[in-house]
Amino acid sequence: MTFSRDDVLAEMGLLPRWRMRVPPAGADPSAAENRVARIARIAWTDLAADIEACTACGLCRTRNRAVPGVGDASAEWLFVGEAPGAEEDASGEPFVGQAGRLLDNMLAALGIARERNVFIANVLKCRPPNNRTPEPLEIEACRPYLERQVALIAPKLIVALGRSAASLLLGSDSTIASLRGRVHRYRGIPLVVTYHPAYLLRNLPDKAKAWEDLVLARATVAGSAAL
Ligand code: URA
Repeated sequence: MTFSRDDVLAEMGLLPRWRMRVPPAGADPSAAENRVARIARIAWTDLAADIEACTACGLCRTRNRAVPGVGDASAEWLFVGEAPGAEEDASGEPFVGQAGRLLDNMLAALGIARERNVFIANVLKCRPPNNRTPEPLEIEACRPYLERQVALIAPKLIVALGRSAASLLLGSDSTIASLRGRVHRYRGIPLVVTYHPAYLLRNLPDKAKAWEDLVLARATVAGSAAL
C-alpha cells in the first residue's frame, strides 16, 4: 500500500478539510496540536508505550517494532542518531547493528556503557523502508517524542550523531564538518555534533575527528570545556 503526502497530513490532523477526499471519522482540526500538547505532558513510564502505539505517519505501517530508545532515564549523556535500521526494527532497540557496535566502542572509550548514565535515541522512532533518508513530515511527526525525551531526561550533554540529528536539534542545514568542534546549545543544554557511526564505518580516517568530538563532549560533561 502507498501513502500520498495528503494521507500523511490527514493522519497527523494537518490536512485542510477541503483537501480531504473522504472526511475521516472523528476528524478534529486541532488534532495535531492536541497530540503535541499531550506528548509534551506524557510521563516517562508511558512514553515508550505511546511511541509503540503511534500512527502519526506512514512508517507505522511498515515497521515491525518501534524503537523508543534505551538507557537511563536520568542519564547525563544523550546520544541521538537518525532512525532505526533493519536490526533495530527487528529488536526494538537502537544501534544494535554494525553502527551500534561502533557506538558501543565509542562509549567504552569514554568509560560509559549503554546501561548506565547514557540514553540512546533517534530522530525517528520507526524504520524508514530500505533505510531511506527520513522525510520532513516523518521528522515533524516524531519530533514531539524526542523533545519529550530531552525534557524528561534533562541530560548534561546531547551528542548529535550525524546530519539528521544535528539539523533537527540545531535547526541548521550545515554540514557536520562545519558544526563539529564546538559546543552548541539545544534548549539551554550543551550539544556536540559528530559523525554518525554508519558514516565512520565507511570513512575510517574521520574516526580521529569523532574521537576529538567525544573528548570535547567529555570535557563538557565534566564542566571543563569552554561554553
Ligand atoms: N542508525 C541510527 O541512526 N540509529 C539506529 O538506531 C541504528 C542505526
